[in-house]
Amino acid sequence: MKGFTIAVDGFSSTGKSTLAKAIAKELGLKYVDSGAMYRTVALFGLQKGFIKSDSEIDVQGIIDSLHSIKIQFVYNVNSGKSEIFLNGKEVENDLRSMEVNAVVSVVSSISQVRKAMVREQQRMGAEGSVVMDGRDIGTVVFPNAELKLYMTADPDIRAERRFSELKLKGVDVSKEEVKENLQKRDKQDQERLDSPLLKAKDAIELDNSNLSEKDQLALVLELYKKRKQQLQLN
Ligand code: C5P
Repeated sequence: MKGFTIAVDGFSSTGKSTLAKAIAKELGLKYVDSGAMYRTVALFGLQKGFIKSDSEIDVQGIIDSLHSIKIQFVYNVNSGKSEIFLNGKEVENDLRSMEVNAVVSVVSSISQVRKAMVREQQRMGAEGSVVMDGRDIGTVVFPNAELKLYMTADPDIRAERRFSELKLKGVDVSKEEVKENLQKRDKQDQERLDSPLLKAKDAIELDNSNLSEKDQLALVLELYKKRKQQLQLN
């Protein structure tokens, strides 16, 4: 069978990565978290002093350093999870900090950053079947993806989910701060000039405000089966 690509796009904290990981596990596909790649560039910028705040960014410094940012996804056999490495160092927890949250959407609006990430994402997708989540996967990275999903959920539910996630990780943050950050990132992601967040014409919209993870997965597996039949794949 030719590679099957599943694109999962949508707003922040709509459960894209939870769903994408579950699909990948169920179907034995490779999973790529494209947001983690933009987060890694933002982390690199913070560490190297190119980023002081979301309004104080040395854009040229980041662009000139892109060649020295090596991002790797490595499967950890012990935890059964994929870990992300920046220049050889595991950085998963650092990527989810509020510092990175605050600047990542500005970093992701830099065209040269997008070009470099999209090139890498397409290379990873060319290796076989893949499920990738992000903001522009069905519109820019894989416009011919076999199945495209566009996720939405009630803003309060999204803020609550992200808040619980951060609390579990021990991050000291209020629910209001989390909600504000989500709203700000959504706005920046929708309004940026290069590859803004939008629903691909052929994407299926999935509002998971009131769907359990299990029901959501079952629904998507049905969509996958139907799509395979339509495409007459085995
Ligand atoms: O998915 P996640 O929330 O981790 O993504 C972090 C940020 O990276 C998003 O707010 C968005 O600005 C950016 N992003 C993007 N394009 C993607 C994935 C993420 O611009 N494909």
